[in-house]
Amino acid sequence: MGKGCCRAGGEEQPVQRAGCQVVQGAGEPARSAGYWWSGLPADAVQIDGVNVATPESNQAADAARAASGAERVWVQMRDGRIGAVARGEVEVPVAVAPVLLPGLVDLQINGFAGFDPNSPDVTPETLVGMARALWTTGVTSFCPTITTQSFDHMVRSVRAVAQACAADVQVNRSILGVHLEGPYVSGEDGPRGAHPAEWVRDPDWDEFQRLQEAAEGRIRIVTLAPERAGAVQFIRKLVNSGVLVSIGHTAAGSEQIRAAIDAGATLSTHLGNGAHGHIRRHPNYIWDQLAADELVAGIIVDGHHLPAAVVKVFWRAKGPERLYLVSDAVAIAGLPPGRYVALGQQVELTASGRVNLLGTEYLAGSALELRQAVLNFMRFTGVGLAQAWALASTRPLALLLGQDEDITGEALFHLGARADLVLADANELRQGRVKVLAVVLGGEVVYQASAPTPEL
Ligand SMILES: [Zn+2]
Repeated sequence: MGKGCCRAGGEEQPVQRAGCQVVQGAGEPARSAGYWWSGLPADAVQIDGVNVATPESNQAADAARAASGAERVWVQMRDGRIGAVARGEVEVPVAVAPVLLPGLVDLQINGFAGFDPNSPDVTPETLVGMARALWTTGVTSFCPTITTQSFDHMVRSVRAVAQACAADVQVNRSILGVHLEGPYVSGEDGPRGAHPAEWVRDPDWDEFQRLQEAAEGRIRIVTLAPERAGAVQFIRKLVNSGVLVSIGHTAAGSEQIRAAIDAGATLSTHLGNGAHGHIRRHPNYIWDQLAADELVAGIIVDGHHLPAAVVKVFWRAKGPERLYLVSDAVAIAGLPPGRYVALGQQVELTASGRVNLLGTEYLAGSALELRQAVLNFMRFTGVGLAQAWALASTRPLALLLGQDEDITGEALFHLGARADLVLADANELRQGRVKVLAVVLGGEVVYQASAPTPEL
């Protein structure tokens, strides 16, 4: 997946604000008949929105722009990809204009809205249902995250992902690959988190290859503990086969973390979680990963997994190039509080949105939606919408597709990139909520909240 990029245009030009001139891509975009919506889907269509997502924007500028409608953006799509991006002065009241944003990308999500790919009775329809439920929340791409179980159980899960991708072209677009979290993680209470003690084990290349075969090559990320026997060699093999290695659920010492990085590990899985309740002040595996510029860290910003102060410090230490947001949601995300079975274990979803292993203080995943993570991150760190949204969209996408597509850099919309877009309600955004009006995946509308805004 991710191959066959058809980049249009050439070098990105400086954004030109005057008028409504096309500043990127070739040719004048043909205006659609409606204000922002009609004409979809088609071969070359255009979406209009208010642009609050310029790289230089900060929180105050975002709010001001949303309030005054200082700028407008069009994204023209050709063959499902972004063919042109134009900006210009707003000609119409912005009260009804949507905010145009890149689709959210979740690299770690165990399930959603009752759909559980880790369940023993998973089917391809589980993944189809999960993808469709995620689209309604603005998530256009995700990595179904398969956690520690018996080999046969994990095979069923990854095979279901492959079958769902084979059966449904939009689901295939949406699923970036499997994130295999375990089974090669720590057996210690704390770092082990909710991974069942009876199934965590040392890395086994033959076993992994059989899992990768069942997944039809779709395993793209593996979370493991570098202190496990044989981990360094295993990491090298994974990296050579094109799989990203993420350090997580670990009790590794400084040397072991360094060895994992030298072997090619490039990510940290939910940094600051999957850890002991109490650790030595320093050195420890959190400082070591935080300081390693080679590691890009995923974090869960639901207000339960990390305190606001820690999120802010992680942001300052890692910066926009080395941080991304994940939900780590389990299947009960979106359901009412109560006791459930998640990841094969008894868990409790509290009224405040915590998911605890029943009878313990250990978190067993989250009930977070990525759009809420963005808002929480803005609140905890003081950064603006554009920067926070990028950490949950273009940044994680670039980690997986960076070798195939030129989607790195500050811009939120990239020429030639797949047209995965979210239209959000501007008024709701001003109130601190992300209300998704429509979602476009590969140039096609896959979700629409209500009838299109009337033409002005
Ligand atoms: Zn985990």
